[in-house]
Amino acid sequence: MQLTVTALVTTLSLTLLSACSTKPNHEGSSASTVLPPSVKWQTQSKEYPLITRAIYRDAALQLMQRELPTNWVVVMDVDETVLDNSGYQAMLSQSGQSYSTASWNQWVKSKQAKLVPGASDFITSVVSAGGKVALVTNRNKQLDSYTWQNLEAMGLPINTDNTCLMGRSQADKDAVDGQQIVNDKDLRRQQLMTGDVDCYNPSDEAVAEWSQPHNIVMQVGDNIEDIAKTTQASADPSALLPRFGKDVVILPNPMYGSW
Ligand SMILES: [Mg+2]
Repeated sequence: MQLTVTALVTTLSLTLLSACSTKPNHEGSSASTVLPPSVKWQTQSKEYPLITRAIYRDAALQLMQRELPTNWVVVMDVDETVLDNSGYQAMLSQSGQSYSTASWNQWVKSKQAKLVPGASDFITSVVSAGGKVALVTNRNKQLDSYTWQNLEAMGLPINTDNTCLMGRSQADKDAVDGQQIVNDKDLRRQQLMTGDVDCYNPSDEAVAEWSQPHNIVMQVGDNIEDIAKTTQASADPSALLPRFGKDVVILPNPMYGSW
């Protein structure tokens, strides 16, 4: 009996050790299972890439079936929409830290973010069809060069003619009036529509391209506030439902948000 109990304890210990070993994430790197469930889900589950790929696949199909206006643009958020920052979240967990602006900026500068599964194919579909992409991100505008380099390093088919990267500036925060400018991405969405945008590092050709008024045909994000004139407090999921997959696309992000 004693031997049996010992064997059972040994088996349990090995099982726990095995559970604490490292497993590859979607990009092939390692992530420890001391991670919180949200980070494990994004890095290790099969559900996450299946869901994000399916959402992006359907969004591209829907877009290509529509009659699109001239100068059409898809507005996309960056974090947990195009770039996967689970590596940052894992680092925080494993070092016992909480989010801070300093560590986040360091992460952005490290350019280690990977791609959200499906994002590359979607962006390729958009630019191949003659559309443009506006990356409206609340990463600090002063870090746009690092964000751009990270995106380029991931092999996305972007250049400054077809893609306008706009990090958040103080003006974006100051513009929020609760009326016309409801959230801190609204000003940049308005600027896209009037052609008064401040894209990252544009060539002369890109300035000419982006100075034209653009028609926003789809908004893609992981946060409800990636939708124009929407806040976490005011958002009505029932009202948004008919738009989902048409002009509004939301991806899962279990790790953080404005909720
Ligand atoms: Mg985001």
